[in-house]
Amino acid sequence: MPGEYTVNMRKYDADDSSSSLKSASQCHCSVAVGFLLILVAILVAVGVGLIVHFAGNNKDIVCNCNISGLSAGISGCVTLAKENDPDICGACPAGQMTTLTHGGNTTTVPATTVTPIKKYPLRLPGTVTPMLYSISIKPDFYSGNETEFMFYGQMSVLVHCNENTDEIFMHVTDLHIAENSIHVTAEGGSGNLFQSLELVPSQQMIKISLLSPLMAGNNYTVEIKDFYAPIRDDLTGIYKGSFRRNGEIVYYVTSQLEVVEARKAFPCFDEPNLKARFDITIVRKPNWVALSNMPRSRTDTDSDGWEHDVFERTPIMPTYLLAFIVSDFTYRESNTANGVPLRIWARKAAENQTEFGMASALSSMNYLESYLDIPYNMPKQDMIAIKDFVWPAMENWGLIVFREDLLLYEPGVSSQANKYPTFRYIAHELAHNWFGNLVSPNWWNDLWIKEGVATFFEYRVMDVLNPDWRVSESFADDLTEEGFALDGLQSSHPLFLKGLDDPLDILRHYDSVSYKKGAAVTFMLEFMVGRDTFQRGFTSYLKQFLFGNAGHTDFFLAMQTQAQVENKTLADDIVDIMGTWVYQMGYPTVHVEHTGQGKMRLTQSRYLQDPQAKEKGVFQSEFGYTWDIPFTFTSNTEKDFAKIDDDIVLLRRDEGSVSILSDVIPGPVGDNWVIGNTEFHGYYRVNYDERNWRSLINQLINDHTLIDPLNRIQIISDAFSFVRSGEIDLNIALKILEYLRKERSYAPLNKLMREVQFMDKMLKNQPVYGKFRKFMRDSLKQLVTEYGFIDDGSNYIASHMRGIALKWACYYGVEECTEQAQQLMSQWMANQSVKPPGINPEVSETVYCTAVKYGDETVWDFVMQRLKVENVETESHKFLKALTCTSHKWLRIKMIRSILITDIIPNPLVYRATMNAGHAFPELTWDFFRNNYDELLERLGTTWFGRLLMQVVDEFNTELRLEELVRLGESKADEKNAEHDIAVEHVKNNIKWMHNVDKIEQWLNGLGY
Ligand SMILES: [Zn+2]
Repeated sequence: MPGEYTVNMRKYDADDSSSSLKSASQCHCSVAVGFLLILVAILVAVGVGLIVHFAGNNKDIVCNCNISGLSAGISGCVTLAKENDPDICGACPAGQMTTLTHGGNTTTVPATTVTPIKKYPLRLPGTVTPMLYSISIKPDFYSGNETEFMFYGQMSVLVHCNENTDEIFMHVTDLHIAENSIHVTAEGGSGNLFQSLELVPSQQMIKISLLSPLMAGNNYTVEIKDFYAPIRDDLTGIYKGSFRRNGEIVYYVTSQLEVVEARKAFPCFDEPNLKARFDITIVRKPNWVALSNMPRSRTDTDSDGWEHDVFERTPIMPTYLLAFIVSDFTYRESNTANGVPLRIWARKAAENQTEFGMASALSSMNYLESYLDIPYNMPKQDMIAIKDFVWPAMENWGLIVFREDLLLYEPGVSSQANKYPTFRYIAHELAHNWFGNLVSPNWWNDLWIKEGVATFFEYRVMDVLNPDWRVSESFADDLTEEGFALDGLQSSHPLFLKGLDDPLDILRHYDSVSYKKGAAVTFMLEFMVGRDTFQRGFTSYLKQFLFGNAGHTDFFLAMQTQAQVENKTLADDIVDIMGTWVYQMGYPTVHVEHTGQGKMRLTQSRYLQDPQAKEKGVFQSEFGYTWDIPFTFTSNTEKDFAKIDDDIVLLRRDEGSVSILSDVIPGPVGDNWVIGNTEFHGYYRVNYDERNWRSLINQLINDHTLIDPLNRIQIISDAFSFVRSGEIDLNIALKILEYLRKERSYAPLNKLMREVQFMDKMLKNQPVYGKFRKFMRDSLKQLVTEYGFIDDGSNYIASHMRGIALKWACYYGVEECTEQAQQLMSQWMANQSVKPPGINPEVSETVYCTAVKYGDETVWDFVMQRLKVENVETESHKFLKALTCTSHKWLRIKMIRSILITDIIPNPLVYRATMNAGHAFPELTWDFFRNNYDELLERLGTTWFGRLLMQVVDEFNTELRLEELVRLGESKADEKNAEHDIAVEHVKNNIKWMHNVDKIEQWLNGLGY
């Protein structure tokens, strides 16, 4: 998966007495009852108890009533649940009353069989290993009444016993299991070994106790013929999605099982190393389409007219990669070079938006197969675009799911800029076919080995297949913005997390460290062994672990072995070097001391945005925060940025310093400069003495083209980061802004504008802001004249440049930009059937935003109307963002309030965009966030909520706001997540930065502003 997601994990949080069962839709009471009453007759006949399981707001409440009082008990439970009565289980008949336990996770202890709550390990004991699952799922969502949507399942799993045991643990979350449907039998035997079932909700497990022990070396079948649950609405497990067709809501049902959500779909051994084969059957109504990982082998029809799609058996794979979807979507089909059918599915109205995705997928697949020298392993590749999706995409083997805006592309509506994320995510997910699917991580603490490597490939595939896109520059821009930014905080984490077992902790690490740093470290490894050796190393690593599991050590060892075979310079040290990048968080700064003609000296230290911050102690470094750094350099006399592995100077972790003697190092005089980390191959920053910094920046101002664009990005990022950490003076970095008006490469300009954006946020409430805006207007004016609004979409980089130039020119109020944008919008509003050519995909977002910003309610309403009828998802996002650009406070309030109306704002990404795009009236957003804290958390899930928090507080830079933020964290201590600590650290760093404001004023004064 790419690294943005939300999962509502609140069910596993500690007990929160302040929250309650809010509504029927959250506890699913009425749904459960409808089904349970049907079951009564059956259960009376067999005379067993029945568990009623209420999935509450942040706890599970289970009523276990004996069958004699079933009807009264159930209806009583439902009534009380609806009324938020904590004594919900008291509704069971006297004498058979169950206990609702508080404190920690809740479970139910039936009065008749009281068992003390035990603490079990978070991991499965490993006494049995799954071999073959047979699973049938019947989602019933055809009534149109969401509260009635349910799924019903049956499963069996053949397991191998590794050591004698009289109990079997399996993962289960929020499933209702009929105890009498459980059978455990020896292979070839018939006697049922099942004795009893115990729920272990704290571990998301069930324990099946057996009448006689399973014997090591033998195989057994565990069968659960009757489990069911409401179809979820939190985008995890088996959940419903919807969209509108001709005004009517159309539903579909889909699955999302990574990370630990398969247990919400069926009882299973839900750990990535417990791989097995799967026989899947999906039961559906006629005229609907069911898709799963494998092709359909046959369809049977039962006596009730339901159709049973039976799918071919999967290869050996982990539970988290399983998937199915029932929808009425349509598709476009083609074949890969190896003849594998590739289909892109979309809702019918979006069928014509699949062409770009298809072309990108085919070329990516063909490239990956040829690069890795291992064919794609599944008989087909389906890719489907859905609106309701928690991540950008998910690599289910054979059935990849994408958020609609990231797979569909409409020429003439979607922009050149939209091609980039679409291609990226397609390449990323296809790379997972090998990294993650064919070879899976041993455990989630090595998440980066699949996500970092897939991210490496998303950039590599794009770069090779679209050389004019200059992807390596975009990676440098993305890396410095995301990976470096988070990893420069105390609250970061190492790539490999020793001792990580808890699902909650696993979820937190789907972040830019695992993805972007993971990719950067992989690029660095490639540079150290050389590109060709690296490619062969990859293939040998995959072939060694086909259909198995592996960790980072296996990966590094394969590379080291390949490098040794090929006599590479650093061959013997690969595993050792890479350890310093994987086992400790953060990254180094290399300090270059230019000591004389032909001489320089290197030392290293850890980069921290706030060097004075106290060590938190969550992750300790075994290397004392020193690294083995592959250093490269060039100078103004050499200007050769294209270095190779043989040019590396290794700065070892235990060496205090390294001296370099070289002819290419000029004397430390005048405007001579040296620069380290050529083409940004290494995951580290470089700092210099003031003279060298000034020489580098003078070079940018005089002729920036003599410095490689990747290193221009690096200079910008490093200089402003060292200002934040207090290591260089702001005046040095400010000077870089004076070359802004000359930059015509997209990624360096974008990087520069990201730094400007940070300053903008800090200066917004300062008297100097007017001068700053004027400086920016003067810097950007020329770009408006040069690029203009017309774009024919023929030049990818020019379109990007046009997009960014106009966006910022209009933002800072360059008149040529704002006036034209407003005129274009007026023309369109006057004649809505003809969009003026100036409102083309590359600049339309700027036109809409500017028109809304300077316009009145009429413009705002017009954009809102367009949003409601828009069929292209990327365009919808532009309209949404534009609505937040308004200068009218009351319209901003109207927009914020609409966030809680799902009909208009369908998914988490849009939530986030809506909350803060444009950063207009941040105090309104902050108030809204605090006042609706619980509801937003409920709706967004922990991680998206955390990211939203980061956006809301992004520009806070006063003690007052810091205090409010800290107080909010204290008042929500039970629900506080890791992002809260990051947010506090971020605001503190902002406050520290504010001492720079006077210097900015002096600098602007010096320039005549
Ligand atoms: Zn991924």
